[in-house]
Amino acid sequence: MESRSRRRVSSPERNTDPDGTFVRCTAEMMGVVQGVGLRPAVYRLVTRAGLSGHILNTSGTVRLVLEGLRQDVAAFMEDLPRNLPPFAALEGIRVLSIVPISPPAVSTDRSGFEILSSETNSPSEICIPPDLAICSACRAEVLDSSNRRFAHPFATCTACGPRYTILSRTPYDRANTSMRRFEMCPECREEYANPSDRRFHAETIACPNCGPQLKFRRSGGCEAAGLEALFAARAEIARGAIVAVKGI
Ligand SMILES: [Zn+2]
Ligand SMILES: [Zn+2]
Repeated sequence: MESRSRRRVSSPERNTDPDGTFVRCTAEMMGVVQGVGLRPAVYRLVTRAGLSGHILNTSGTVRLVLEGLRQDVAAFMEDLPRNLPPFAALEGIRVLSIVPISPPAVSTDRSGFEILSSETNSPSEICIPPDLAICSACRAEVLDSSNRRFAHPFATCTACGPRYTILSRTPYDRANTSMRRFEMCPECREEYANPSDRRFHAETIACPNCGPQLKFRRSGGCEAAGLEALFAARAEIARGAIVAVKGI
């Protein structure tokens, strides 16, 4: 669970115009930039733009390294704030350096873009979003009897789910949340590693096979699990009892 996907995607054919200058731009993104699907979104934007580099969470920011033609990198950075996921609240982008590099050859290690493992040795000044209400796509899955997450109360994705209340420390990685106890099943792992899936790098990913389960307890012990727990709680509320809900 703690090893991150290091998937490489080949970039489209590059403009190798000898007059073009290739650069490496290193920048830090500040604000509410973790737990909002920012890295997967930037991954898609960068690969679509045919640039290379990597992105990673640090304790305090998200660091983005881009390589490509100077004008392409500049255009990308200018457009980036307008193309972020809805819950990202960017407070600023600090460009740390722009250095010339030799033109990367296609199919070398330089081609492609990666989401790297988080770095934890920087000061912790991160803004973590509050828990996000279930999105319409997850809600549709939970209500679809043919979906593998049918009636799964812990369906989440990069656009929804718990954030602040499950995080024990930064950066926002599954290993730093209460989800760390739940080993992903192969299907969830596939979704987590698939750039075209909306659960690509969704740190709270889970399903009925591998995620948390509902439990209903009275004082004294567990009395029901799964959907039965939900029905038991509903029955208690219907007869006037008070039910407390505890998260994970
Ligand atoms: Zn969702
Ligand atoms: Zn699963």
